[in-house]
Amino acid sequence: MRLKDKVAIVTGSSRGIGREIALAFTREGAIVVVNYVYSEDKASEVVEEIERLGGIAISVKADVSNRSEVRSMVRKVIDEFNRIDILVNNAGIFYPGSLIDFDEEKLEAMWRINVKGTIYCIHETVKYMIKRSYGKIINIASTAALGTASPGTTMYSLTKAAIIILTKRLAYELGEYGINVNAIAPSFVLTDINIQGKSREEINEMIERRKEKISIRRICEPMDIANVAVFLASDSSSYITGQVIVVDGGRIDYLTHSI
Ligand code: NAP
Repeated sequence: MRLKDKVAIVTGSSRGIGREIALAFTREGAIVVVNYVYSEDKASEVVEEIERLGGIAISVKADVSNRSEVRSMVRKVIDEFNRIDILVNNAGIFYPGSLIDFDEEKLEAMWRINVKGTIYCIHETVKYMIKRSYGKIINIASTAALGTASPGTTMYSLTKAAIIILTKRLAYELGEYGINVNAIAPSFVLTDINIQGKSREEINEMIERRKEKISIRRICEPMDIANVAVFLASDSSSYITGQVIVVDGGRIDYLTHSI
């Protein structure tokens, strides 16, 4: 039980990677706040699953790109549990598009949710962490920010690159208050963000094509990310801050060292 009685907010945990992080935190004893924006039913299912595992959770609807909704979410968590030990900034969206055909609205939406949403969540939460000289902040970046993304991900990559520098600067700003700030950079994970609108054949083709260019020869599972999130949220990582942990099965290395 590496997170026993820790209170954790996981943004965007109704589905995908966030859901898996919420469940992994539960197994380690944390009390989990399941945040979502649209998927009320899915968020309730995650809470039910957590309760089945013997854990404690609440779901809270809040658009991370809306500052007052974030403030209300954080207030609710403080009213209910009196503290926040862990914040995982996982909520994120992806719209493909190249520079030639980029869509201003989609670029702004990605920037608002992926970057400003992360800033709002940290800003509203950190004062409660500072008061207790304790906190773990984990930002979900992407290998896209490190230069190995597929074509059509330039604008998305930009938002994730911002998350990496934000992680490093905040680690510097917040270290003296006992707060660790780290990022996880996953490579391709098979979640809604990647498969929406695609046929079964297209999905299978996408998996096979990618598998061949990953040293470990399998696609990243949400649990691969959740395992690292547990480590970064726990006191086993107390001397690690400002780091980006790449979880890509060796994909970047494969692309760099193969011909
Ligand atoms: P996903 O399956 O599409 O899930 C996205 C989650 O974010 C959902 O819970 C969604 O809530 C929530 N969300 C979206 N916009 C939100 C908002 N404005 N406010 C609050 N919650 C919001 O995506 P995923 O693949 O798990 O991605 C999770 C994170 O990992 C993202 O930051 C993504 O960029 C990053 N990432 C993913 C991959 C990948 O290949 N999958 C790779 C690298 C990095 P609703 O259900 O209510 O819509």
